[in-house]
Amino acid sequence: MATQSKKQEKHVYFFGGGKADGNESMKNLLGGKGANLAEMAGHPDLKLPVPPGFTITTEVCTYYYQHKKTYPKTLNSQIKDSVKQIEKLMGKKFGNVKDPLLLSVRSGARRSMPGMMDTVLNIGLNDETVKGLIKVTGDERFAYDAYRRLVMMYADVVIEKAGGLEPAKGIGIRRIMDEKLSELKKEKGVELDTEIEAKDLKKLVKEFKALTKKYLKQEFPENPWDQLMGGVGAVFASWNGKRAIEYRKIERIPEEWGTAVNVQAMVFGNMGDSSCTGVAFTRNPGNGDNHFYGEYLVNAQGEDVVAGIRTPAPINNASKNDHSKKLITLEKLMPAQYKELDEFQKRLESHYKDMQDIEFTIEKGKLYMLQCRVGKRNGVAAVKMATDMYKEKLITADEAIMRVGPNQLVELLLPMFDHMEELKNKPIAKGLPAGPGAAVGRLVFESSDAVEWASRGEKVILVREETSPEDVDGMHKAQAIITSKGGMTSHAALVARGWGKCCIVGCSEIEIREHEKLLITKEGKKFHEGDWVSLNGTSGLMYEGVLELIATDLNKNKSYRSLMKLVDKTKVLGVRTNADNPKDALQAAYFGAEGIGLFRTEHMFYGEGSEKPLFLLRKMIMSDTLEERKSALDELFKFVKKDIKATLEVMDGKPVTIRLLDPPLHEFVPHDKEKLMALSKELGVSMSILNRRILALHENNPMLGHRGVRLGVSYPEITEMQVRAILEAAGELIKDGKHAMPEIMVPVTMGKHELQHQKVIVDRVYLEVLKKLKLKKIAYLYGTMIEIPRAALKADSMAEVADFFSFGTNDLTQMSFGFSRDDIGGFLPQYLDLKLLPDDPFVTIDQSGVGELIKIGVERGRKTKPQLEVGICGEHGGDAESVKFCHRLGMNYVSCSPYRVPIARLAAAQAAIEDKTATF
Ligand code: ADP
Ligand code: MG
Ligand code: MG
Repeated sequence: MATQSKKQEKHVYFFGGGKADGNESMKNLLGGKGANLAEMAGHPDLKLPVPPGFTITTEVCTYYYQHKKTYPKTLNSQIKDSVKQIEKLMGKKFGNVKDPLLLSVRSGARRSMPGMMDTVLNIGLNDETVKGLIKVTGDERFAYDAYRRLVMMYADVVIEKAGGLEPAKGIGIRRIMDEKLSELKKEKGVELDTEIEAKDLKKLVKEFKALTKKYLKQEFPENPWDQLMGGVGAVFASWNGKRAIEYRKIERIPEEWGTAVNVQAMVFGNMGDSSCTGVAFTRNPGNGDNHFYGEYLVNAQGEDVVAGIRTPAPINNASKNDHSKKLITLEKLMPAQYKELDEFQKRLESHYKDMQDIEFTIEKGKLYMLQCRVGKRNGVAAVKMATDMYKEKLITADEAIMRVGPNQLVELLLPMFDHMEELKNKPIAKGLPAGPGAAVGRLVFESSDAVEWASRGEKVILVREETSPEDVDGMHKAQAIITSKGGMTSHAALVARGWGKCCIVGCSEIEIREHEKLLITKEGKKFHEGDWVSLNGTSGLMYEGVLELIATDLNKNKSYRSLMKLVDKTKVLGVRTNADNPKDALQAAYFGAEGIGLFRTEHMFYGEGSEKPLFLLRKMIMSDTLEERKSALDELFKFVKKDIKATLEVMDGKPVTIRLLDPPLHEFVPHDKEKLMALSKELGVSMSILNRRILALHENNPMLGHRGVRLGVSYPEITEMQVRAILEAAGELIKDGKHAMPEIMVPVTMGKHELQHQKVIVDRVYLEVLKKLKLKKIAYLYGTMIEIPRAALKADSMAEVADFFSFGTNDLTQMSFGFSRDDIGGFLPQYLDLKLLPDDPFVTIDQSGVGELIKIGVERGRKTKPQLEVGICGEHGGDAESVKFCHRLGMNYVSCSPYRVPIARLAAAQAAIEDKTATF
């Protein structure tokens, strides 16, 4: 930072009248909304009609919290100057009783936090100025409509929420006022807000003020400047409100960022039938289609569209859905304004080179732009937009790759219902398809219930009339969300879309009694808390009971295929999979796996078809003498060979890393009596002798016990049998003209001597197999897993013996931290809450600790053997951040579970691009 200059004291950035102090690149200082308002208003390519206003910087927010909630000294005068500038452009004066300027106060952090911060509209109205407004507009109804909205928003946002007042019985002032409004409508026999007459709205303003006094013990401020500064303070205060904090936690938005405040001249979408307000996207955020897409409401203001008070109408035919198809489009209703809006949206998209989410208002036929930002989209849409925009030459291949979040790809793998199966069931309700995919779960009616049930491991579906920011925690925990109100741009829809969650909104056919925890369908069928339902978020259909979920056929998605082509051209890091059988291996190959990084031999002793080999293994374990053990191993051999051969065969031409037996032997000891008796009979020993042998296998710390290479040292014949099985399987395939590429991996090593000890066996068996199969050569690698910290430190000498290293990051993390991966649940949540740890180290590699060991391991290993092949296996291989870390360390590959392979490939490509663009 330069020295303290005059410039740094600028707290307020103006925009309007074709100019702006700020621009899009200043998001950190002006927040996303402020920066984009400046860009829209001031950039020569855009110069869009944005109502004039100014942005108070995020630095003021920081100052506010560092100085006991006070402002920098010069802020006040800067605000006053800026309001004057607005007044000049608008030809109205703030607080003037003849022709009052009204303002909105809008929050805006760096990244959009939908619904997190509340906006206050119509600031500047009071009992005097409202008269002026009536005079200039000649519209009493409009003026009082604006006024009652101000009183409600002010009481709710500024006095109650920002003031930290706890509403009695959890019923906030907004709800009390809403009920008053409903009462009034009932009394007057009208259905819509827009049908309430001026004199009734006028009465409502009085009543709202009285309610404010009664419940919040504060007066609504009549002075416009008090209103303005109250609004500004409320935005800053809301940064540390409960719901903002919750959302930040989920989205990992740092607390230090702070929020900016935008103050802007009001324009009115509620000035009758030639006025409206709307929300639109330059492309369809639900499926990525390149159609302008949006909704609007005639004679409405502010958040009416999002709040789902009335069903919004589609802006054009491409935006119609089942609920809105009969409503008149904006294109038809106001063709000239629609054309202008369409032109603006095209300008915005080509300027920003990305899909934009737009807010607009038309006041008596005049179009204003109120907001634009990069639009949220689900995974399917993200992939389609990225590849389409690349084809349209709007963005480069690298940009297309960077556009898709690795975790968004998960959504393309989202389960769906089997179509035929679905047809057999009759839907119990139909709503709007706001978030694709399918979900099955048990009904809960409260966000807090969703959180609680989910913590017990229950799969839940959250059902609400509508959702609000208070519900985000429960929404996050639910499998899916369904609401009876709201449209495709409602809160529920926006939030679900951001998370790629299955979601149905506006399902008006169902009646939801939240307090009774009861859902009633059109046909009168009742559903209670805990009842199972199935949702299809792609079609908007809801079913009773549990429908079976099936995986989707990813490679049928053309956009995905084009994206992955770009990905494979770009990435340097290889991606393998962890698979123990031909089926998983094929699945992974389908997802683009370039080999197997971890094949666990012991899997064959679990699950289907494992009975016989498991029995033989037990026999081997319970053997007392070498002869007994050898004969058991001989029998076991053919099973192991067959098993390995099947996987080597399907991975023809691709490397397969086969890990020798890893778990402590006692894990395989049977517990039920029948099995023990059979074993004692087979071995010809009494039950008491058998029991004694079992007791001898018992260990206090089995994870640190007799396992991995230690078994091979104690029982070299076990290693020998496995190595022979691997090499014979490979040799036989080679004789069949196949190209088997086995890599023999020794687990849980801590130094070179263990590796040498086992290598003697491997070398001997190799020669024997060559002789037996009459082959000259079987290509294979001999290497080890690095999962003990000592092994990472001794990598230089270990590389003398090993052809490859594979970092077993699960165990390496466990042993580096001294955290048992099976018991970490007892304290990890607290550690994360207290920020003693930034992440669960078993999910994301602890780069600065465990990562340092890995780095040392790679460096020292390669120093001895530059060609050393290095990879990782373990859960981290499918975590995007960890994949990027592996790329930076120059590993050859990562290995992850089959369903994470596409994610790892994308992350690998992104890492390569980030490498290129890293500046020095
Ligand atoms: P959010 O961050 O929730 O999107 P906004 O600040 O965008 O909140 O405000 C919500 C809505 O209020 C906007 O979509 C817009 O319709 C309305 N609004 C905000 N400022 C103005 C204004 N100056 N004139 C008219 N409407 C406004
Ligand atoms: Mg809002
Ligand atoms: Mg907005």
